Amino acid sequence: MASVSGKKPVLRLEELEAVYAISRAVAIAKTMDTALDEIIHLARPVFIFDNMVLYLQRGPDSLKPAYARAIGRGRFYEAELAWGEATALEVLQTGEVVKRLDEANQEVNDRTRYRYTLGLPLNLEIEPTGALVFIRFGGPQYEPDQIRLAEFISGHIAQLLGHDRLVQQIASLEAERRLDRLQEDFIATVSHELLTPLGFIKGYATTLLRDDTTWDDETRKEFLTIIDEEADRLHELIDNLMDSSRLQAGTLRMSYQPIRLDAFLKDVVMRSVSRHDNLKVGLEFNPPEVKIDADPTRLAQVFDNLLTNASKYASGSQVMICLKTEEDYVTVIIQDNGPGISPEHLDHLFKRFYRVPSKEANVRGTGLGLFICRQIIRAHGGQIWAESRLNEGTSFFIRLPLNQQQVEKEIFLRESSQ
Ligand code: ADP
Repeated sequence: MASVSGKKPVLRLEELEAVYAISRAVAIAKTMDTALDEIIHLARPVFIFDNMVLYLQRGPDSLKPAYARAIGRGRFYEAELAWGEATALEVLQTGEVVKRLDEANQEVNDRTRYRYTLGLPLNLEIEPTGALVFIRFGGPQYEPDQIRLAEFISGHIAQLLGHDRLVQQIASLEAERRLDRLQEDFIATVSHELLTPLGFIKGYATTLLRDDTTWDDETRKEFLTIIDEEADRLHELIDNLMDSSRLQAGTLRMSYQPIRLDAFLKDVVMRSVSRHDNLKVGLEFNPPEVKIDADPTRLAQVFDNLLTNASKYASGSQVMICLKTEEDYVTVIIQDNGPGISPEHLDHLFKRFYRVPSKEANVRGTGLGLFICRQIIRAHGGQIWAESRLNEGTSFFIRLPLNQQQVEKEIFLRESSQ
C-alpha cells in the first residue's frame, strides 16, 4: 500500500480526448447514474479497470456505496464492495490518492487473486465527501500517468456529485417552502371557514342569554334555528375536512357492493330536490338499468355535492342527469345551464380549497367538495372532469368502471408486471 504524489505526467492525445468527452457528458448529464455509465463507457478505452465503485461518507468512519459497476473480470459484487471499502476509508482518512495490493483467499488460484486498487478522494464543496475506487484483478499496476488520468475522472465525478447535491438541496428547499405555503393557506382557510359558523352560534347564543332584554317566542325560535343550522354547517365542515385529509392520506377505505346505478341516482335526486327547493332535475338514462360495483355512501356524497353545487352556483337552472354506458364503463353527466365557469378556473376546480372568485358573497363553501369528489371517483378507478361555457352552463362528467373486481385485477396485473 502506498500514497501517491510527485510530478504530474502529461496526458496522451486519446486520453485528453476522453477527458474532454467526459467533461461534455458531465455538463449535459440528466441523472447521476446515466452520467456515471457514460463516464465508464468513455474512460474504459483509455483506462483499464475491472470494477469502479463510488463511496459516499455517511459518518466519520462509515461509507455507503452509491454506485458500482463491474466490467470485464468483475466478480462477486458484495465481496468487491468490501475490498473497495478498505481503500475508500483510507482515502477519506488521509485525503490522498491510495494504491493497495491485496491478495484474495485461497479459493482463487490464478493471477487474478491479486487485487490492485486505486482510491481517489472526491473533494466536494458540500458534504459528504466520498471516494472513487478502481479495482484491477491481476494488475497491471497503476502507473503515474494513469493515476493522473484517474484523478481527472474523479474530479469530474466530484463535480457531478456537487451538482447533483445542489439540485437535491434546491428541490428539497422548494418542496419545504411549498409545504409551508400550503400549510399556511390551509390553516388560514380552515380557521376562516370554521370561525364563520362559530361566530354566528356564539353571537346568537350570547344575544339570547342577555338578561337586560326579553325575546318573544318567534324571535327566540328564529335565533335558535340559526344556531341549529350553523352547528350543522360546522359539523359538515369538520366532516369534509376529515374526509379530505383521510382521502389525501389514502386511509379512507371504500366498501364496494353491487348497486343499481339508475335507482340509486333517482334516490339521490329525490333527497336533493327535497332539500333544495330551487333545484329542477330531469333524468335521461340509456340504458334504463345499469349495475355497478361501488361504495354507495361515498358515491352518494359525490352526487349530493354536484347537485348542491348546481343549486348554489346555477340557481334556478334546469339540471339534466344523463346516464350512458360504453364497453366496461358507465358515464353520468350532470349538466346545468347556469352562469358557467371561465376556462382559467376550470383546470383548478378539483384542487383542495379552490373556489372560483364570485361576486355573490352569500354563496358559501370551502372549495373541498370537488376535491373530495375527485378522490372518491379515483378510488373507484374512475374519472371526473368538468366542461363549461360562460353564460351557457356547466357539465360534470363521471366515468366509472362497471366492475370493481375487474379494476382490482387490472391494477394487480399492472403492479406485478412492473
Ligand atoms: P365549494 O362549493 O365549497 O366552494 P366545490 O369544491 O364544491 O367547493 O366547488 C368549487 C368551486 O367550483 C365553487 O366554489 C364554484 O365556484 C365552482 N362550481 C362548482 N359547481 C359549479 C357549477 N355547477 N356552476 C358554476 N360553478 C361551479
